[in-house]
Formats: sequence, C-alpha cells, structure tokens
Amino acid sequence: MVRRLMHIKEKHKEYHYQISFDFTDFSNEEKVFNDVFSKLQELFGEKEISSFKIGISWGKEIDSVQRDLLKKSLQHKINLEFAKKNNLKINFSDPESVFLIHFPKKTIFLRINPVFVYGRYSKYLRSIAQTEYFCNKCGGYGCWYCKDTGHFSEDSVEQLIGDYFKKYFLAKDIILHGAGREDMDVLMLGKGRPFIMQIISPEKKTIFLKNLEDEINQKLKGKVSVNSLKFVTSKEVSPLKDTPHNKIYQALVKAEQKITSQNIGQFVLGKEFSVIQTTPVRVEKRRTMMDREKKVTLIEAKLVDDFHFSLVLKTSHGTYVKEFISGDDNRTKPSVSEILGVPCYCEKLDVLEIMDNDNE
Ligand SMILES: [Zn+2]
Repeated sequence: MVRRLMHIKEKHKEYHYQISFDFTDFSNEEKVFNDVFSKLQELFGEKEISSFKIGISWGKEIDSVQRDLLKKSLQHKINLEFAKKNNLKINFSDPESVFLIHFPKKTIFLRINPVFVYGRYSKYLRSIAQTEYFCNKCGGYGCWYCKDTGHFSEDSVEQLIGDYFKKYFLAKDIILHGAGREDMDVLMLGKGRPFIMQIISPEKKTIFLKNLEDEINQKLKGKVSVNSLKFVTSKEVSPLKDTPHNKIYQALVKAEQKITSQNIGQFVLGKEFSVIQTTPVRVEKRRTMMDREKKVTLIEAKLVDDFHFSLVLKTSHGTYVKEFISGDDNRTKPSVSEILGVPCYCEKLDVLEIMDNDNE
C-alpha cells in the first residue's frame, strides 16, 4: 500500500509533456524569444488548457549579463504573448498548467493538472480486483519480476475502465479512488460503488461523459459497468473515501453439517443487532488490532440444498461479512455459525447495494 502511494505521488507531480530545442546563440534576444515561442506553441499543440504560467530555469551556460538582459526581455513578455496568441489566462498562484523552459536541459516541460470524474461501478466477475496491484519487487516502476510492466496481469476495474478514460481524455494515466473496496472474489451489483477517477495530464477536457459511459458499458459488457458519470473537483476525493455507507450483501453459505429449513428458521429476520468484531486474522497485518461494534440486520434466509443456504443481510460500514458468517475463531460475536450452532463459511459474496444516506 505504501509503495502504491509513493507511486501515485510521483506520477502526480510529473511533467508529462516535453519538447527539446538546440539553439545555443543567446546574443540576440529577439531571436531567442521567437525560437522559444515557436517551441512553446509546438508543445502546446491542440491541448485544452484554460490557465497557465511559464517558468524559466536559466542555468549557468548563459553568462550573467546576457542572462539579465534575457530575463528582462523574455520572462514577462513570453507569458503575455502566449496568453494573447492562444486566448488563455495567466495564473501565477494556481495555474492549471505549467510550462517550464529549462535552458540547461534544452527542454521545455509541460505539466497539466488532473481532472476528476465521479461515477459508480458494478463488477460482474469474481476475478477482477478494484485497483491495479503493483509489483511488490519494484513498486510499479518495472523490473525483471513483472516483465517491465510494473504490475501483475490480473484485471482490475481501475485498468479496465481506465483505458477508456485515457482514450477519451488523451491522458497519460489514471488513478481510481473508490468509496471503500470489495475483495476481488466479491461481485459489486445494484447501483454500483461510488468512485472518482483522477485523470492525469489530460490533453482533452471537453468530453461528453455519456458517450464514454456508453462505450465502457458496451465494450466491457459482462465484466464491469459504470453509471452517473459527472465532473467533480479534487476536493471531493477525501469525502468520497471517508463517507460511511451501509451495505446490503447476498451470501452463499456452506454449513459443515447437514442443515434443514428448521435450522434456517432460527434466524430472526428484520431486526438489527450488534456484532463485535476483533480485527480478522486475514487483515491483521494491515489494521490495528481492536474490537469494533457493527450493526447487522438479516433480511432473508433460504435453504439451497442440504449443506447450503443463502443469506441477504444489511451491515453497517466496515463490517467483515465473511467473518460474521464463520465467526473467525470467536473473534466475531455473534456469528452465523454461532446462531446456527453449526460451523459455516461464506462460499460466495455479492454486494447487492451500497446505500446512500438518503435511502437508508
Ligand atoms: Zn516489477
């Protein structure tokens, strides 16, 4: 997880676009200006940018007298002229894009702020992770272990739908921020899980999101779908990740002894009760060891065959459902195993709905 965050941070601040130049004669300020300006235009191309600033890194190759002259003639003028020619706003405090004219590296760099799109995704296969798993040897940079890909080959919602976001926005990369996450083997059904896609260095921003949505839903049919796409700001990422949601799950439960509809009749349906969960064994490396109180309501219980039944249940935010079913060696109390008096475990799990505050 830490590696992934480092990776994101570095991707975030990168100057993704660049163009090199080779002029070495700085004696004629007019000519330097014109050469730099045409390179700037070339780098800018057709990119959709609203506000910008141009910074200059001088280095020591240019002697100090010449540098002072150039500073006077270039720095201010190039911002003004570039704004005028392309009908863009100069913004020194919070620019949407930053050009950096780097004389020592003979390169002009361009960084464009990310854009953010909210949506909800559903997932219909038990083999798709939410986000890309980066290689644990190189942390995503590419090495012999991951065959220079930086990640492993499992499909993820992030990468599957992200490819279409990249294509529409002509973006360099994407990061999916989810409102929580389901395990890879858990289906995400119903209206889907809220997410915000962070789109890195987009060349295009005027996107008709309905077209993107339709193409994703058509091309990824049977795997992943999205709905409710809309533009948001970076400020909405933290609340999205932190807002608690109740959820409705459907579980296929396997009992270790033969069960009957009489056994199933022991469940009290429609009544909310408290469950105390000590941090489960399977996540104890990642989470602080503590007791958490969760709320569970059993909604429906149906016998499937002698050893299986299905359960529909509503749980409060952060309930470990698989452990609520098994009991996790008495770390979760009460549990389905305990109520039934028969050891049980969850064979299949689907999220039927992630509830918004207004439909709870
Ligand atoms: Zn690697």
